[in-house]
Amino acid sequence: MGEMTPKKRALLCLTGNKKKADRVSCFDVLTTATVDQMMAVNAPFPEANRDPELCFRLAAAAWEIIGLEGFKLPFDLCIEAEALGCKLNWGRIDRQPSVETHAFNDLKDLKIPENIIEKGRFPLKHGVEERLRRVYGDYLPIANQVTGPFTVAGHIFGIEKFLIWTKKRPLEEIKEALMLIADMNVADCKEALRRGADVICIADPSATSDILSPQFFRDVMVPVYQSMAKRLGAPIVLHICGNATSYLPYVADTGFDAFSVDTQVNIAFAKQVLGDKMAVVGGVPTISALLFGTPQVVKKAAVDAIAMGVDALMPSCGIPPRTPTENFKAMVEAARCMVYV
Ligand SMILES: [Zn+2]
Repeated sequence: MGEMTPKKRALLCLTGNKKKADRVSCFDVLTTATVDQMMAVNAPFPEANRDPELCFRLAAAAWEIIGLEGFKLPFDLCIEAEALGCKLNWGRIDRQPSVETHAFNDLKDLKIPENIIEKGRFPLKHGVEERLRRVYGDYLPIANQVTGPFTVAGHIFGIEKFLIWTKKRPLEEIKEALMLIADMNVADCKEALRRGADVICIADPSATSDILSPQFFRDVMVPVYQSMAKRLGAPIVLHICGNATSYLPYVADTGFDAFSVDTQVNIAFAKQVLGDKMAVVGGVPTISALLFGTPQVVKKAAVDAIAMGVDALMPSCGIPPRTPTENFKAMVEAARCMVYV
């Protein structure tokens, strides 16, 4: 029997069916772009975030340069906020864009334009996804990332203000605003799936247990996420930064397929709590291994994660742009060596 395509392997692993795959998948649904790749394909930040040709080249470098078994777009978390009227700081070659001004003063002001996915850089993202599908799509999976509702709320209202509201205002008002943002996420994902994406990644870094209680996660975030899961016909990965251990009892209720965990979450423990309800992905620390480690350190972390039962090997969070190529490649090599016997 020949090797399985990376696309089929990824779809099996991300939906908790890794035993049907020949080995764990290794593609990065969080962020793939590094300075090394930008130099190799001559597509640097910040231009690669705005120019369709450069964006395509840098997205494709994930496979062409690193060997990651799939693609992911976009490279930053600001598309939603930008389309809703926030001003961005475009960053530089080793720094992703960030949100500089907020768009709404109050929850009641929030309005999502009907044609939101035609605004800002949504069309650029979907266009590049379509091109990736045309060039590589029979063999490699494409992940469409959306910035999750809580993180977008932080961008458009200001995170400090929004956090205070989560404690002082009726939870129904908070939930209503998050649901409107979720509707925008769903519209974005539906267009991405129509144009050729295979996998959805919801990156909601701000919804971390550093600032939210497990009860808020259960009572507000889970219903918001459920409303997204019900409307999307593709595997969905949720990423939340930091120590999400206290969310584990509730996260499977979202209806999502995979939970992408940061380094603070013990993979074996997460597997034990989630059982076969949800895949657990991640496992390779971005800072200690990928950015500052060596290929040996990365491989050891990867093998440990696989031994603890990780369903798909990935960096534990967004890849730091200065990550050396040899370290990033070592993660893929580790996955390739771990063929089940
Ligand atoms: Zn993260």
